Amino acid sequence: MIKQIISTFFAANLLALLLAAAYVEANQDIGAGESWYCEYEDFFEIISAIEATGEYPHFIEENRQRYEQYQAMNPDIPMSTVIAYVNVDMDNDFYSDIKDVADPSDVRVLVNKNHALPANWEPDNFVNIGAGHMMREEAATHFTQMRDAMQENGLRVNVIITYRSYGAQRNTHGNAVSRWGSASADRNWARAGHSEHQTGLAVDILHKAFEESMHQARYQETREFAWLIENAHNYGFILRYPNEYKDFHGYVFEPWHWRYVGVETATMMYNMEIALYEEFYGRYLVPEVLERVREFIMEQQALDEAEKAAAEEAAAREAVEDVTIDIDDAPAPHTESILIVPAQEINTDAQEPKSTAISAQLMAGIISSGFVVVGFIIYAISRRKKRPSAH
Ligand SMILES: [Zn+2]
Repeated sequence: MIKQIISTFFAANLLALLLAAAYVEANQDIGAGESWYCEYEDFFEIISAIEATGEYPHFIEENRQRYEQYQAMNPDIPMSTVIAYVNVDMDNDFYSDIKDVADPSDVRVLVNKNHALPANWEPDNFVNIGAGHMMREEAATHFTQMRDAMQENGLRVNVIITYRSYGAQRNTHGNAVSRWGSASADRNWARAGHSEHQTGLAVDILHKAFEESMHQARYQETREFAWLIENAHNYGFILRYPNEYKDFHGYVFEPWHWRYVGVETATMMYNMEIALYEEFYGRYLVPEVLERVREFIMEQQALDEAEKAAAEEAAAREAVEDVTIDIDDAPAPHTESILIVPAQEINTDAQEPKSTAISAQLMAGIISSGFVVVGFIIYAISRRKKRPSAH
C-alpha cells in the first residue's frame, strides 16, 4: 500500500514535468538561438515591468561611454533609441569593426554593413517559390500565402530575386564597383556576406516596368506597395530599407526589398511603429536583453514557488487541524482526499515547529492524532480496495 502511494506520488510529478516540457516546446516564440524561449506576450510584459522601474531594459553597462558619445553627436535622437542603435554598433562607420552574426539560421538574424554571415554559410531547407527562386522553407510558406492574398486582391507580384549566394553577391557587388565606383555600389548593393539575400529570407518584388534602376523607387507609388505596408507583417515580412532611415541602414530607399523575420516580430514592429529593424533588434533581441528577461523570469518563478510552498504549508496545517476535529466529531473513515497530504506534511511540521497561536503541546497532540488518522485511513482504504477483488 505504501509503495502504491509512493509510486502514485512520483507518477504525478513525472506527469507534471512532462506537461511543463510540452508547454515550453509549444511556445517557442522569442529567445537567443536554442538557449531559452518565452512567449512574445510575456516578453513584452516583462520589458514593460522593467521600464516601469525607470530603467532602460536594453541598457548595457559596458556601452555607457558609447551611448554618451553617440547622444552628443545626435542630440535629436531619444536616449532609448540611442541605446538601441549603439547596441547594434550603429555608432561605428559602415564596414568597420565587422562582427559575425551569432546564429545565421535564426529567422530574426540581423545582417547589415557591420554584421556579416560566414562566407560558406547557406540555408539548408530551400523551397522553390516559382521560376527557380529559392527561399528558406518558413519564409517561402509565408511568402506564398502573402502572394496568394495579393493576387486575390487583384495585385501583381513579380519576384526579381530571392536567395543569392555569397559568391554571386561578391560578383554582383564587384561588377557594380567597376561600373559606378565603390560609393555608389555600396549604396545600392551589399558586399558579400552582408546581404540579406544570402539568408534566404529576403525577396525583391518589383513591377517589370520598374526594373531599370532609375525607376525602381517608383514602386512606392504602386497599389502593391501600399498593400504591403499595411499587410506584410501578417505574413512575417518587413520593409527593410525605409526611406526615412537611409543614413542608418546605409542604402538607397528600397521599396521592393522585403525581409521575413517571423509573424510575431513583424507584427510587434508594426504595432510599435518601429520602422527600422536595427532599432527593434537593438531594443529587444540583443543577447544582453534576452538574458535580462530570462533572469527576470527565473526570479519570478523562484518567488512564485516560495509563495506556493508557503501556501501549501498553511493548507497542510489547516488540513491537520480539520482532521483532528473530524476525528473528535465522527471517527468514520469517510474521505480519501486527506489520504496523502497530511502524511507528507506531518513530517515537515514535526521537524520545523512554527510559531503559531497553538501551543507546542497542542501541536504535538494534533500531529500524533494526524499520524493515527492517516494510519487508520491507509488501513481502511487498503481494506476497501481489497474487498471487490474478494468477490
Ligand atoms: Zn533586395
